[in-house]
Amino acid sequence: MALQRTFSIIKPDATRRNLTGAVIKKLEDGGLRIIASKRIQLTREKAEGFYAVHSERPFFGELVDFMISEPVVVQVLEGENAVARNREIMGATNPEEADAGTIRKEFAIDIGENSVHGSDSLENAKIEIEYFFNDAEVVG
Ligand code: GDP
Repeated sequence: MALQRTFSIIKPDATRRNLTGAVIKKLEDGGLRIIASKRIQLTREKAEGFYAVHSERPFFGELVDFMISEPVVVQVLEGENAVARNREIMGATNPEEADAGTIRKEFAIDIGENSVHGSDSLENAKIEIEYFFNDAEVVG
């Protein structure tokens, strides 16, 4: 087991429906500790940069429009195997395929408006954390 950090976003469909606390409770109950957190309004440029890996996908425009539609909460989570653990707590991308009890099964609207983002690797977690936070904002 290894103590890791991962990056999380509570997406606009969740902030809009006042589910920020409900999502955080799932993360904390799942064994993850929030060591940095801020509510922000993404700009189009920032969202496009974050999702650049998906820029050729047919849903890219829709994804960016969604991510800037309301504020988001960006967070750094810490815990044992945090990258994989967070993905387990989130559930599958498509809520119809997500396991019972996961954030996406309980709260997501559809495959696009799916309530949370979580880094898919330790390498990407580091890149994504640095995209949103400076060292002074990550306070253990
Ligand atoms: P994730 O790692 O589980 O978030 O999934 P991906 O990296 O494959 O996709 C990134 C995000 O793009 C997802 O969380 C969705 O918000 C969005 N997305 C993925 N597939 C679709 C799709 O088919 N349609 C739409 N509208 N959005 C999608």
